[in-house]
This record gives sequence, structure tokens and C-alpha cells, in this order.
Amino acid sequence: MCKALVAGNWKMHGTTGSAVSLASQLNQDWAQNNAAEMIIFPPFVHISAVRSVIGEGAISIGAQNISQYSDGAYTGEVSAEMLLDQGCKYVLVGHSERRAVMGESDQMVAKKFKVAQDSGLTPILCVGESLKQRQQGETVAVVSAQIDAVIELVGLSNVCRAVIAYEPVWAIGTGETASPQQAQQVHHAIRAQLGEAGRSTTLLYGGSVKASNAAELFAQPDINGGLVGGASLEADEFLNIAKLIEA
Ligand code: PEP
Repeated sequence: MCKALVAGNWKMHGTTGSAVSLASQLNQDWAQNNAAEMIIFPPFVHISAVRSVIGEGAISIGAQNISQYSDGAYTGEVSAEMLLDQGCKYVLVGHSERRAVMGESDQMVAKKFKVAQDSGLTPILCVGESLKQRQQGETVAVVSAQIDAVIELVGLSNVCRAVIAYEPVWAIGTGETASPQQAQQVHHAIRAQLGEAGRSTTLLYGGSVKASNAAELFAQPDINGGLVGGASLEADEFLNIAKLIEA
């Protein structure tokens, strides 16, 4: 069975104080017996402080990025081992902001996926098409090529052990959400691409998810939860979204 997840990507926002305050508000409300597992992705520099607030409880911590290298003279990079040492269980790879702004290629994303998974972290592989690609009818081809690049490096069964987040680029941070039907169509195509081995792979939807649109999205048969950016910075809104996920 697919694991139900709700993930909050805090991006490059906040201070130690605001991160700790947000984490403690979430921690007070979120219990282990909720249907979904909650994961928060603070900036690297706030992970340690956030972890001291949430401890080993109901909320898991992830990192927003990881180095493709395991150790050595790579100034400014953060390795898988460092993330594990900080208590991370998950890591985002291939977020569209990193692909577009930092120039991460499909191949680099695949290397990051491998290094994360080999170390014991669970990668959340983010995929999605631009507005132009959607308008040109290339959505499924783009998403499928992004997933294929990872399959080529690590094999299908390892991709199926991870989590995949479909995040249409035109819906991220824009207030524009894919309709439940548009999202389900792509999730269905991803599920078909993964075949039998992907029947229990967790597929998340991301892109301007809010409490007001989450229920319909999460009701789709191939959507197992959400990756939430902006709305995860407000405790009440994020908790309301999270509670709409059914196991
Ligand atoms: C994201 O950053 O992954 C995201 C989905 O952002 P937002 O919810 O703000 O669109």
C-alpha cells in the first residue's frame, strides 16, 4: 500500500526563531496516529534547531538538497552523511527551482538520488513540466524523461522504493493549481510508467496546494499526499492540509 505523506518545503525562508516556532506549533498538534506521515524541510542551517524541538516524535525531517558527492573538497556542499547525522530521513531531489535556477540536469538529479538512497535517506524525486511544455502537449513525455534519467542510473526497483512528487512548474508558487483531473492524469501516467513495481510507490502532488483545494486533489486515486511550499509556512494552514490526507 502507498504510504500517505504530507511534506512542507520551507524553501529559503525564515530565521532560527521562526523555524523553531513553526516546528513547535506543528509538533503540538500533529500526533503519530494521523493518517499521513508529516515531513518538514527546513533550510540546512535550521535543521538542527528544528530537530531539537520535534525530537523523535511524529514529524520527520528532510533536507531541500544534497550534494552528488559523498565527501571531500566541495566547498559549500552538504553530504548525505551530514544530513543523516542531523537526523534527516528524507531529501528533495530535482525540485524545479534547483533545475531552473541552479541548472541541475536530469543526470545530476539522478546522481543526487543515488547518493541519497545509497546512504539510507529516502529521496523525494520532483518532476514536472513548464507551462510551454504543457501547452505543446509534452507534459507526460517531459515527466517520463525526468523519471527515466533516474531509472537509467539506479534501476526501476530503486526508483519505486522512493517517493515521486509531480509538481507542474507553472503551479509552483503561482497560486495556480493543476485541476484534480490534470494532476490525476499525470499521476496515472507515472504509475503506468513504473509498472507493477510502482503499485505501492508514494506519489505526491505539489503546486499551490492550500486547504481550500487539497481535499479534491487528495481524493484522486493516484495521489497519495502533497508537497506544499508557501502554505507550509503557516502552521494552521499546513495542519489543515495535512488532516485532509487519508491513509
Ligand atoms: C514547492 O515548493 O514544492 C511548492 C509546491 O510550492 P508552492 O506550494 O508554494 O506552490
